[in-house]
Amino acid sequence: MTDILIFITALSLVIHVLICLTFFISCIREKERRAAGFSGLQLAVALGLFGVLYFLKSSGFFDSKNGLVALGVGVIFIALTPLLLVMKTSRNNKALAGAKGLVVGSVERFDERETVFSRNRALRPGSQQYQRFYAQHPEYEEYDTARRKLGGPVGKPGLIDKPHEKPNLAASVASVNFSLHLSVPEIVTPQGFSGFKDESVSLSPAEATERVKGFGRHLGAGLIGITELDPSWIYSHRGEIFHENWQDWGREIDLNHKYVIIFTTEMSFEMIAAAPHTPTSIESRVQYAKGAAIATQLAAFIANLGYAATANHFRHYDLLLVPLAVDAGLGEMGRFGYLITKKFGPRVRLAAVTTDLPLIADKPVDIGVEDFCRDCKKCAICCPSNSITMADQREVNGSLRWKLDEETCFEYWGKVGTGCNICMRVCPWSHAGTLPHQLIKILVSRNRMARRLFTTMDDIFYGKKPKPKEPPAWARFN
Ligand code: SF4
Ligand code: SF4
Repeated sequence: MTDILIFITALSLVIHVLICLTFFISCIREKERRAAGFSGLQLAVALGLFGVLYFLKSSGFFDSKNGLVALGVGVIFIALTPLLLVMKTSRNNKALAGAKGLVVGSVERFDERETVFSRNRALRPGSQQYQRFYAQHPEYEEYDTARRKLGGPVGKPGLIDKPHEKPNLAASVASVNFSLHLSVPEIVTPQGFSGFKDESVSLSPAEATERVKGFGRHLGAGLIGITELDPSWIYSHRGEIFHENWQDWGREIDLNHKYVIIFTTEMSFEMIAAAPHTPTSIESRVQYAKGAAIATQLAAFIANLGYAATANHFRHYDLLLVPLAVDAGLGEMGRFGYLITKKFGPRVRLAAVTTDLPLIADKPVDIGVEDFCRDCKKCAICCPSNSITMADQREVNGSLRWKLDEETCFEYWGKVGTGCNICMRVCPWSHAGTLPHQLIKILVSRNRMARRLFTTMDDIFYGKKPKPKEPPAWARFN
């Protein structure tokens, strides 16, 4: 009996040492000095316990009655505690219902003309659109006028890194322009390659789904899901104008495609770790461009099969992508309004294709985000403009959510001259995709105690207000 208990304890300690060692190495590779210090300490304690076990065994302590009791308690503590963290303890039915699970009233389709970007780009003082829009929405005029004087949503680009910002700005603008080339109407909604016959290719929904997802992954999509297109998440009117396409401004969006294929591209951990400095702007735009390239090719593929398709990306949106990504099972919406995925956390950009090609829809997922965010609040604590609420979810346009103050968030963008992304950087789900972090994500997506434990551990290992880190040398800003 004693030998069996000693064996179980020793085996548990070996596993613990291996986990600590892997975590220690991963912290060094991620250049997380503070976390490396704490995980080194954790490793030393685990090795020390191993030494204590060896010493007590050699001294014959476990042959006594007290020794056996101590060993029994040790086994319960060391071997059973991890089991308590692995058990599935909760099920969030709201999350499993997708974006609909949060609907508590009537949802009005959102008008794209009201987004900060559309207001800034499309409403040129003196233009017809300007008069029409502010006659209907006088509440925005003072804020928008001040914003325009600052140079738009990001103000003076790269300001925070002045005078070293130029190379990084050059890189980020290169990617913005790439997406723009893919946004002319005939590319966004392709007609199909003329070399194909007119009739559509007949595919079962299962085969079409396999081919579409497979091609999307082959093109570089990280996660890819499908959902039936809920009209609540289609913009009501066109607001973003590119290519001087003014006749489009204010046009009602009439989209009757049945499905949306939605996918992520992963944002580099190293680049986001430098937020709010300019590397984060490069990375946002690089991934928007990648999403635009994938969506464009995927839409063309479906058009060549003989079905209607429209690409949705950085320079052409018909849709609000986050609720649709939730419906397609890519993740849940976090306190700061971004999608949080299990594999990459919020370090993703989204793009999509709508289509009438018959497909098989995915199901929404419960990965514990709502419960985690309720306790965590790290993004709200670290947000320099207090734009993320510390309060509970509340009803916003018929849906229960944490309301981000977009106006104050953009004010901070204007101060630093980048897309900020501090909230994305500090989120515990954003850590690099190393083995220990993936294991932690499995635990927190299953278990309430694990969520509480790892919220606290994240503060201890990474700090309550983690600082930005150096980016790769080619993207340095000082
Ligand atoms: S930082 Fe915390 S509260 Fe904010 S989105 Fe991430 S998990 Fe949720
Ligand atoms: S992007 Fe920056 S300012 Fe905006 S909510 Fe996130 S942390 Fe706050």
